[in-house]
Amino acid sequence: NKSGKMGGREEKILVLVRLRPLSEKELSNNEVADWECINESTVLYRNSLQERSGLPTAYSYDRVFSGDCSTNQVYEEGTKEIALSVVSGINLMIFLSSRLAVCSNLPSLFFSSASVFAYGQTSSGKTYTMRGITEYTVADIYDYIQRHEERAFVLKFSAMEIYNENVRDLLSSDITSLRILDDPEKGTIVEKLTEETVTDWDHLKKLMSICEGKISVNDTTAQRKIGETSLNEQSSRSHQILKLTIESSAREFLGKENSSTLSASVFFVDLAGSERASQAMSAGTRLKEGCHINRSLLTLGNVIRKLSKGRQGHINYRDSKLTRILQPCLGGNARTTIICTLSPARSHVEQSRNTLLFATCAK
Ligand code: ADP
Ligand code: MG
Repeated sequence: NKSGKMGGREEKILVLVRLRPLSEKELSNNEVADWECINESTVLYRNSLQERSGLPTAYSYDRVFSGDCSTNQVYEEGTKEIALSVVSGINLMIFLSSRLAVCSNLPSLFFSSASVFAYGQTSSGKTYTMRGITEYTVADIYDYIQRHEERAFVLKFSAMEIYNENVRDLLSSDITSLRILDDPEKGTIVEKLTEETVTDWDHLKKLMSICEGKISVNDTTAQRKIGETSLNEQSSRSHQILKLTIESSAREFLGKENSSTLSASVFFVDLAGSERASQAMSAGTRLKEGCHINRSLLTLGNVIRKLSKGRQGHINYRDSKLTRILQPCLGGNARTTIICTLSPARSHVEQSRNTLLFATCAK
């Protein structure tokens, strides 16, 4: 039921699939696009040889986007409502708490946090998609803030990268791995993670571009010695997490004893290339990297599969850094959206099928 899911009440994970167009390079290599969206919710694999192989050819999700859909369309028709439910959730809470003497038993429609993930093989369009989605979300949050002058809002931004099960602060020049702690009040926190108070839209864009410049194991060329040179190659092995926290309090109570601050977070997660979860790794450093990335991606897969089945039984958030950090935005009252990105190229069919398999497990 699309309206139920998009309507923001159902607790399941929203699963979107986005095809990118063939790249210039793929076109010049005479690549063929074998995947096609046949309606708003189904992608079809069109290759007469494969069709006879018995493998499925049609895959359905909450919403699928073809190569000619813009990121704005993906945002408007896909993630907007859920990301914004966080801010409007704050609003609802304000409304109710002004009506209820004791507000101890908040109903489950309050979303304390939301997250948008991009999952897919390297070069399928994860970073391209997440950049746009993050900007549109933030622009809408600013718009919301401007329309609610009766409240004072504070936006905070942090960013981290997980590489080799090490957590690095993308807003700091310090590259030591940060520890993850269980705080009795705040839940899981990343110790010493920089949290910048955002002054305006330009400031936030600047912070985001600082992060982009820092994504990778280490920026110095001297350290890129293990056979890969491009930034894309390095970033394909790490997970990037941007976190936006919105705090809000009523202006009339500011500074007074009875003022209370409400807080909510949105996480934007650009995952490591999904081929890391399925590829057999070569020896040495690569193997270690492979195992760690496997662990985070596979654990995420397990957590998401469990959540999609209605959260029965124990959920192993603690099995990887990624799932520990993301625990507040997975399960509970949080809303999760996964955008699975696909290359339409025939030569990538194996990886595309793996991605769709993951997407199917998540729905
Ligand atoms: P990933 O982060 O999954 O490795 P990227 O986001 O870096 O992949 O995308 C790979 C290349 O394809 C980039 O040059 C990007 O600009 C381009 N690209 C990705 N998605 C789209 C799209 N939907 N439309 C046009 N170009 C795209
Ligand atoms: Mg990328």
